[in-house]
Amino acid sequence: MSDNVRNVIIIGGGPAGYTSGIYSARAELKPLILAGYQAGGQLMLTTDIENFPGFKEGIGGEALMNEMRAQAERFGAEIINEDVTEVDFSSRPFTIKTYSNEYKTHSVIIATGASARWMGLESEKRLTGSGVSSCATCDGAFYKDKVVCVVGGGDSAMEEAGFLTRYAKKVYLIHRREGFRASKIMLDRARNNPKIEFKTNAVIDDIYSKKEGFLEAVTGIKLRNTVTGEFEDLELDGVFVAIGHIPNTTIFKDQINLDEQGYILTTMSTRTNIEGVYAAGDVVDSRYRQAITAAGMGCQAAIDATRWLEEQGLE
Ligand code: NAP
Repeated sequence: MSDNVRNVIIIGGGPAGYTSGIYSARAELKPLILAGYQAGGQLMLTTDIENFPGFKEGIGGEALMNEMRAQAERFGAEIINEDVTEVDFSSRPFTIKTYSNEYKTHSVIIATGASARWMGLESEKRLTGSGVSSCATCDGAFYKDKVVCVVGGGDSAMEEAGFLTRYAKKVYLIHRREGFRASKIMLDRARNNPKIEFKTNAVIDDIYSKKEGFLEAVTGIKLRNTVTGEFEDLELDGVFVAIGHIPNTTIFKDQINLDEQGYILTTMSTRTNIEGVYAAGDVVDSRYRQAITAAGMGCQAAIDATRWLEEQGLE
């Protein structure tokens, strides 16, 4: 364990975490970013990002995260790819434990993000980023005049299906039962969209693909009717999984106030219920979930933490 107490530790290495790092490093707080073993967050699962301002030709998800990381390092952020296993916010300075280290810090920015919920198929995992996506806003434009499907029966699935009809010539909406969790207005909008065909009582048993050089591309899905047990093959080019997200808050749950879905509750921008602990990005946000909104909140959290440290005379 090191004796020195950090000004700020940022937990998470996605757009929110790295942006917090850039801002707090430029405020000369010498932040430590614990970016996790799988640093980079959900953007590491996408190919091209065309809606992040500043990259008119688009940029790869991994490349964008590498740029943000390098930018934080350039201003003096220390970044370690360790997973945080335990936090103690009950006494000051706060304690953050990883598998191999223990750190003390005056303030913390939680930017652990959320993980898309997946169906759990081997083919889904293999083809993520190659025709299987969890973000229509990010990847929809690649499916101009193609056929895609959206899996899920909540508002996200309805929204993604509607959004995808801007590009795709046909969108199958696949839901595992007859009833929907989606709000009536969103469901009606999807039902009234002539490009969307509903397949209810249906689950995907497999995703078909073909090799194109080194790359693999989705060619179709195998559907199973949950009532009759019958199978049906559908030819399509993309699978969008919209069956919910899981905020990465397990290690905080007894100390930080969460909503019923597990997202961190914040007040006055990025403050949590513990003074000196801030939260930013998808870990607080089930609505927008964009790299740019996460980065914006990361900036806010760093400014909030900087001002708080100044007020306390701690830095
Ligand atoms: P959600 O409401 O939890 O819906 C998830 C859907 O995925 C459910 O229909 C569920 O089926 C299905 N599902 C879960 N696990 C599955 C599996 N393993 N295989 C197949 N299907 C599975 O999640 P969400 O749609 O992401 O919405 C999250 C929150 O954000 C909600 O509060 C929603 O209202 C809000 N939201 C609002 C808007 C908006 O207002 N514009 C847009 C998006 C999201 P079952 O129903 O059978 O459980």
